Amino acid sequence: SIILGLESSCDETAAALVRRHSDGSVEVLSERIASQDDKHAAFGGVVPEIAARAHVERMDGLVKEVMSEANIGWKDIGGVATTSGPGLIGGVLVGLMTGKGISLAHDIPFMAVNHLEGHALSPRLTGQIIFPYLLLLVSGGHCQFLMVKNLGEYERLGSTIDDAPGEAFDKTAKLMGLGFPGGPAVERWAKDGNENAVELPRPLLNRKDTLDMSFAGLKTAVRRAIELEPLSDTRKADISASFQLAVADILSKRTSQAMSLFKERVDASNLQFVIAGGVAANKTIRARLESVAEDAGFNFAVPPMKWCTDNAAMIALVGLEKFEREAFDDLDVSARARWPLDSDAASQKPAYG
Ligand code: ATP
Ligand code: MG
Ligand code: FE
Repeated sequence: SIILGLESSCDETAAALVRRHSDGSVEVLSERIASQDDKHAAFGGVVPEIAARAHVERMDGLVKEVMSEANIGWKDIGGVATTSGPGLIGGVLVGLMTGKGISLAHDIPFMAVNHLEGHALSPRLTGQIIFPYLLLLVSGGHCQFLMVKNLGEYERLGSTIDDAPGEAFDKTAKLMGLGFPGGPAVERWAKDGNENAVELPRPLLNRKDTLDMSFAGLKTAVRRAIELEPLSDTRKADISASFQLAVADILSKRTSQAMSLFKERVDASNLQFVIAGGVAANKTIRARLESVAEDAGFNFAVPPMKWCTDNAAMIALVGLEKFEREAFDDLDVSARARWPLDSDAASQKPAYG
């Protein structure tokens, strides 16, 4: 069956169609991502009200576009899946209402998808990644190590105790006026910088007894470094490179510890490490984590760039996996602002966030 997936939890409006082939592989028949970056750039961050309006304006059109590109009609679609949280509630509601309407109008099953589960399973869009695997989910709102045991079965091994790295990238870019979204901008500037020029802390990293991470102190230190000297282009590049290195150091160290823990728990023949989420699009961070994986004897997987940041292909994929298990949802599910992936979250019914 072909599954339609919709995403609208932050500032990308997206629709995608996927299906599974008999060899087990997944095909993305078509997808559209309408970014709202230009609408939020002036504010240096996502404005929820503007985001929700933009989702309303774009969603129906995107659905039509992916269907016509795939050259299919409603009778060809077996089910519809939408992000029902976590995220900005106004935006989540737009996708959710659209999905429910489609389900009702065309009498097809509806699947409510946890956005984080979309990120978590996104590497399975391109390759055969078998459960269980070790996941580092590193995005605009999250940073956590998870043991992915099955669809809907997650165990959290450690996470940030304050900010997410994506947020720190965005804040760093905003403070230096590098542009929005901040991650790609900082990465571009970092290319010309000296990563050892600015001394920045690696908070919490001296503690070896935890997989938790902290980025708030790093953010503060970056602010101080910015205020310390006039911001020449060289200085901007140096701060960007030093900041990116600090994030890479924190993630690498904890990844190596997480791998040791994971090794104690699973069959040695199935050591897989996956990174997902917007920050996984960063080339320096990808490369660092890939080499950590290599040293520890883990297979390394990361989705292609376009599926690291928010997209509907990953939502359609989770929808497909739920569809295949007949894990359908009732049309009374609610949008959730918060929805952790562990605590049996993905299989439990969404409630008011
Ligand atoms: P969440 O998925 O946690 O709810 P989100 O959906 O806002 O949050 P994503 O879309 O997964 O987050 O990722 C967006 C974040 O990724 C932003 O903070 C952005 O700055 C960051 N990001 C994107 N590309 C890069 C990059 N090349 N380097 C570093 N960070 C990046
Ligand atoms: Mg975005
Ligand atoms: Fe996301």
